[in-house]
Amino acid sequence: MNAYIEEVLAKVKQRDAHEPEFLQTVEEVLKSLETVIDQHPEYQKAGLLERLTEPERVIEFRVTWTDDAGKVHVNRGYRVQFNSAIGPYKGGLRLHPSVNLSIIKFLGFEQIFKNSLTTLPIGGGKGGSDFDPKGKSDTEIMRFCQSFMTELQRYIGPDTDVPAGDIGVGGREIGYMYGQYKRLRNEHTGVLTGKGLNWGGSLTRTEATGYGLCYLTQEMLKCMKNDSFAGKTVVISGSGNVAIYATEKATQLGAKVVALSDSNGYIHDPDGIKLDVVKDIKEVRRGRIKEYVDAVPTATYTEGCSGIWTIPCDIALPCATQNEIDGASAEELVKNGCFAVAEGANMPSTPEAIAVYQRSGVLYAPAKAANAGGVATSALEMSQNSLRYSWSFEEVDAKLKGIMEGIFHACYDASKEYGEEGDLMAGANIAGFLKVCSAMLDQGVAY
Ligand code: NDP
Repeated sequence: MNAYIEEVLAKVKQRDAHEPEFLQTVEEVLKSLETVIDQHPEYQKAGLLERLTEPERVIEFRVTWTDDAGKVHVNRGYRVQFNSAIGPYKGGLRLHPSVNLSIIKFLGFEQIFKNSLTTLPIGGGKGGSDFDPKGKSDTEIMRFCQSFMTELQRYIGPDTDVPAGDIGVGGREIGYMYGQYKRLRNEHTGVLTGKGLNWGGSLTRTEATGYGLCYLTQEMLKCMKNDSFAGKTVVISGSGNVAIYATEKATQLGAKVVALSDSNGYIHDPDGIKLDVVKDIKEVRRGRIKEYVDAVPTATYTEGCSGIWTIPCDIALPCATQNEIDGASAEELVKNGCFAVAEGANMPSTPEAIAVYQRSGVLYAPAKAANAGGVATSALEMSQNSLRYSWSFEEVDAKLKGIMEGIFHACYDASKEYGEEGDLMAGANIAGFLKVCSAMLDQGVAY
């Protein structure tokens, strides 16, 4: 390995030894930059990799809230402002009991390159809390969100840092947080994205990550295999925002989606998932995916998540969470004929799973390229807020499609230019990295 990369990796491993998810993503990205670093000795001189792997700012804070019975709870809040070389920090907020600094740093680091790939002027950041929204009443969610924003508002702003949703944060949570920001700051600005349509939100933002995933996948299938979604069997994990709209678009493009999941188990409907049933369970009633079989008795429900990857499919779209496909699951997918994997979730494939895809010739679209449609549309929401104007659904959808196709070609071209033709993981890392590096070089170092 290139000596400079080795040195930086060793330092990160020593300093952040207790942050496994962060180390996993740093290792993946740095290892794929070898040729670039070899060709650009000026990056070492400018200490670029050391600077890139250290967040500009890490904010950690106490979030105190009271439940409906009057009991006081304390959660931990985070915002990692990772890199602002190309624009204000931008990235979602995750509410899930598993959230810790390692997870927020891994997501923030990925976000730098993803945002760069969108071609829009947004830097990388991420935040969240170990609060568990499951089973909480609306008023409990509201009190938590208000308390979280009471502290977070000190550090964010429409030209500084613009958070959005992620796991556990949808329109309801963004609404409560935005209401609190407005109350405290007395401004109606584009400080959050994913807002409601009648108070500054963008059409297509709800659909954007799932739709974008399918637009990029479609372009990959067309350009690398002269193929398409038409007639293909697709397995999608998760049943949240990304999974639902990936199911919708893949179906519109002629595929049959046969499985979805949540953290308890998965459903298999060989006749094709009825999305209206899923939307009613997840978006209206906030229920569990197993309720699907009550409405569609010909489908089956199985407890446990990883079994979903044993269902035969042509295309797999993991849309739940990190490290959900390990080496063994990837082997199962390949054995059953899967020839393309595109990631809606962030880092859903372990390094062992990626090695299986690469060894087996599976087309592989990594998360930072494949799920960039959400943040790209968030940036379009910021543009509309600045203009104090709204574009139509068709206008935003057309821009999203163009951006996703552009991302595929940027990744493919970079993979070709740096001698790894068709390796979209390397291409995404390289293309995202080069733009951020050149901005960092332009802006100098503080002496
Ligand atoms: P949601 O909260 O809407 O849905 C998450 C889904 O994944 C739920 O079905 C959830 O099940 C499941 N899930 C969560 N954690 C686990 C786990 N540990 N094991 C198994 N299943 C789990 O989130 P999103 O759809 O917004 O996000 C999904 C993924 O997409 C995340 O990786 C996120 O970072 C990524 N992403 C999201 C974007 C967006 O615009 N929303 C943009 C780019 C990436 P359960 O209900 O049981 O928890």
